[in-house]
Amino acid sequence: MRIVDLRSDTVTTPTEEMRNAMAKAVVGDDVLGEDPTVRMLEEKAAGLLGKESALFTNSGTMSNQIAVMCFCRPGDEVIVPDSSHIYNLEVGGLAALGGVQVRPLVTADGIYPEDALLSAFRQPSIQTSPTGLVCFENSADLNLGLAVDGQRFDRLAAICKSRSIPVYLDGARLFNTAVALKVNASNLARSADAVAVCLTKGLSAPIGSVLAGSREFIAQARRIRQRIGGGWRQAGIIAAAGIVALDSMVARLSEDHALASTLAEGLIALGLRVRPYPVQTNILQVDLTDLAINSQQFADRLRKKGVLVKPITSGAVRMVTHKDVHKGDIQLVLQAVQEVLIDRI
Ligand SMILES: *Cc1c(COP(=O)(O)O)cnc(C)c1O
Repeated sequence: MRIVDLRSDTVTTPTEEMRNAMAKAVVGDDVLGEDPTVRMLEEKAAGLLGKESALFTNSGTMSNQIAVMCFCRPGDEVIVPDSSHIYNLEVGGLAALGGVQVRPLVTADGIYPEDALLSAFRQPSIQTSPTGLVCFENSADLNLGLAVDGQRFDRLAAICKSRSIPVYLDGARLFNTAVALKVNASNLARSADAVAVCLTKGLSAPIGSVLAGSREFIAQARRIRQRIGGGWRQAGIIAAAGIVALDSMVARLSEDHALASTLAEGLIALGLRVRPYPVQTNILQVDLTDLAINSQQFADRLRKKGVLVKPITSGAVRMVTHKDVHKGDIQLVLQAVQEVLIDRI
């Protein structure tokens, strides 16, 4: 039976081109700064993101946590989107590794309302924890994949900068937003003091993330990566796949977005509610609150029909399109959903 896995774009497997590049990669000891393939990936990523320098890390989580440790001192307060990965899905790293205090803010259409951000800054006093960093995400909300327009980000970042508060952009899926809005990723990251992207989501590399920023920031990030055991040796084997990801896998993300739209239309035609609508990138949520079954039962029944989805609340599942989901699969998914609905309504 064909399995259509819509749980996440992290399930993508490396392409033939990646495997070939990995086999042939020229490598050296990256802790000694001697791996030319890692160096090439870092330079390429820095260029694409419009930053001076970049650091290849094990994961998006590692990039995020390193950034916080660079920008903040223990006891600082960090403003985060309440739906963000850094706040919800990094095992409390902000507290456990960075020693920071977190201030989650509700976002609207993927970004903080200006007045909410303004009133979240701490007034300096002997009793308050200084606001040490403001974090943003783009695409925003890993259960919605919202493409946040660069100018909206620029405006809020300027407010942070006017108070000398650094701005960090978790751009795990920044290339999805860039493709959706038809702009360069560097445009979306220009107001960020540092930005991270994932190579392992829609870009399909097997391992890795890149953190980019000023030369000084990256030098410090490299030391912190080493401290937490993220220094690696012949990492060029992995970086080689990352180079292919950046060279050949960005433009095709538009295919994933088109499939997500087709999927949304089909689900709506079956009487379901989909968020966001229209779909903005490769992620959508299906609302099941009107049905007689919860999201786990819905997912279990779909699984029996070869379709994997991720329950996110008791009344909603997430579906994500990616390079290993093909056009014909959408029909299979809609057929399976329809069968589940007929069984259960
Ligand atoms: C996936 C993701 C991460 C973490 O990446 P890993 O490589 O899985 O650690 C961070 N932020 C966002 C928004 C993500 O979607």
